[in-house]
Amino acid sequence: MKISKIALSLSTILLGSLAFSQKASADSGRLVVYCSAQNTMCEQETLAFEKKTSIKTSFIRGGTGSILAKIDAEKANPQGDVWYGGTLDPHSQAGEMGLLVPYKSPNLQYIPDELKDPAKVKGNYSSAIYLGVLGFGVNTERLAKLNIPVPKCWKDLTDPRLKNEIQAADPQSSGTAYTALATFIQLWGEDEAYAYLKKLHRNVSQYTKSGNTATRNTARGEASIGIGFLHEHSLEKEKGAPVELVVPCEGTGYEIGGISIIKGARNLENAKKFVDWALSKEAQELSWQKGETHQILTNSQAKQSPYALDFKSINLINYDFDKYGSSDLRKRLITKWVDEVKLAK
Ligand code: PLP
Repeated sequence: MKISKIALSLSTILLGSLAFSQKASADSGRLVVYCSAQNTMCEQETLAFEKKTSIKTSFIRGGTGSILAKIDAEKANPQGDVWYGGTLDPHSQAGEMGLLVPYKSPNLQYIPDELKDPAKVKGNYSSAIYLGVLGFGVNTERLAKLNIPVPKCWKDLTDPRLKNEIQAADPQSSGTAYTALATFIQLWGEDEAYAYLKKLHRNVSQYTKSGNTATRNTARGEASIGIGFLHEHSLEKEKGAPVELVVPCEGTGYEIGGISIIKGARNLENAKKFVDWALSKEAQELSWQKGETHQILTNSQAKQSPYALDFKSINLINYDFDKYGSSDLRKRLITKWVDEVKLAK
C-alpha cells in the first residue's frame, strides 16, 4: 500500500515535471509585442522587460486600427503575442471578434475598479494601462504669421482662414482619429458630427496614419493645428516646440490605453508576464521617465509625470466605451467617414 502510494506520488511528480518541461518549452523564451503606443515608449518598455526577465522581446509598431487589421488578418496563424498600447476601442473590437484571450493579472489590484475590466466583452480580455485626453495643439509661431487668434473650440477649426492648416489622423489606421470621430458624435449627434467633419475636411492638409504624426508635424511647423492626444503635444512642448495645448471649449473625449493578449499567442506565458509588467508601477513610471509619453497612469501607486494633465479639472464627455467599442459600429462609422468626408467630391 505504502509502496504503491510512493510509486503513485513519484509518477505524479514525473508526470508533473514532464508537463512542466513541455509547458516551459512551449514558450520559446521570446515575446513578440505589437505596439500601438508611441515609438520610444515601445522601445524602452520592451527593452526594460527583456532586461528584467531575459525573455528576448521584439516589437512592431502600428496604429491601433492598423494593428487590429493585422491581428485579424493573421488569426489563422498568429505572429504576435501581446498587443500593447493604443486606444481601447479597437482592443475592445478585437475581443468581440474573438481575437483575444482573457487574462486577469494580479497587478489589476492596483488599477481603479472602474478600469479593471474596461472592454465591451467582459472577462478581462483587455486591461487599462493609461488615460489620455483628446484635444488639439497649436503651433503659435505658424499661426501668428497668419494673423489668426488661437482657436479655443472644436468649431473654431472650421474657420476658412485655416484652410490647409490642420492635420489629423485617418480613423482607418489610427485609434486617435477614431476617438475624435466618436467624440464628435457623442458631443453633437451623428448628423451634426459628420456635417462638422465635412467642414473640417476643407482645412485639413493631410490625414496621417498615426495620431502622433499629426502632432509631430504641427510641432515642426508643417501645420498650425494638430488634432491628437494632449499628452503627445505636451511632449513636443517639453522638447521646446512653440506649441500651445487646447482643451476645446465644448468639452472633449478621452482614451483608455489598452493591453491585450492575442489568441493563439505562441508565447502565452511570456505574454502574461508582459501584461503584469505593463500594469506595474515600475513600467508605468518608465513610460514618462524614459518612454517620452505623459499620459495619465492607471496604476494607483505609480507617480504621475509632471506633464500629465489633471483629469478631474477637464470638461470630459462621459465616453461610452461599450458603444464605441462595438465592431459593427466602428466599421459603419469609418466607412461613412471615408465615403462622405475623405473621398467626397
Ligand atoms: N501613441 C500614444 C502615446 C498614444 O497615447 C496613443 C493612443 O493610445 C497612440 C500612440 C495611438 O496611436 P494611433 O492613433 O496611431 O492609433
